Amino acid sequence: MGLPDGAPSGLEGSVKEQELASLFQRNREWAKSMTDRDPEFFSRLVRQQTPEYLWIGCSDARVPANDLIGMAPGELFVHRNIANLVHNIDINLMSVLEYAVNVLKTRHIIVCGHYGCGGVRAAMDRQEFGLIDNWLRKIKDIYAANKKALDREPDPERRLNLLCEINVRQQAHNICHTSIVQNAWRAGQELVVHGWIYSIADGLIKDLGIRIDGPQALEPIYVFPGFELDIGF
Ligand SMILES: [Zn+2]
Repeated sequence: MGLPDGAPSGLEGSVKEQELASLFQRNREWAKSMTDRDPEFFSRLVRQQTPEYLWIGCSDARVPANDLIGMAPGELFVHRNIANLVHNIDINLMSVLEYAVNVLKTRHIIVCGHYGCGGVRAAMDRQEFGLIDNWLRKIKDIYAANKKALDREPDPERRLNLLCEINVRQQAHNICHTSIVQNAWRAGQELVVHGWIYSIADGLIKDLGIRIDGPQALEPIYVFPGFELDIGF
């Protein structure tokens, strides 16, 4: 059986050919449904990309960013990784952030975690998984820093979900600790960082009340020079 148009030719004869063929079929159906509804959709999309929102979420397949908030292609700039972590030495995320802030002039950055996150769960265990242990180590640091509050919660699932929330808060702050975000604020650019969490169980997003639009909410040690802080650091 031949492959559909556009399929990589090297896949011919592979055991998964049928499964992959169905993906191309679904893609054609999706593209048709979009142009049926709006014939100009793709030609318009080619000409511009001006999303107002940057989404930083988990790679978990159950948390598809655009779908959760009903956004069409072109409306959301997306970065996803395991457990929605913001490592300041992650060249991938930092490149996405810089492009979003400096070129796209994105006005809202949303860090969205989710309850029951497998990455957070793995970090709470004393198990060895491999390379990912290095990635998830930051969550262990957050656990250690919040150990008293977390250990007061006796139910393991609720403790996990509490750490998922604390993780979002920390990652939202980590975004704000970057020179990229602070330089934008210093230049007077409107930029707000939000912290949300998604429930796979009911499909709803909860606003964690994290809304950072300037350096005042940050620990002074993380604030670059050039800001006048009330605390006189
Ligand atoms: Zn996750």
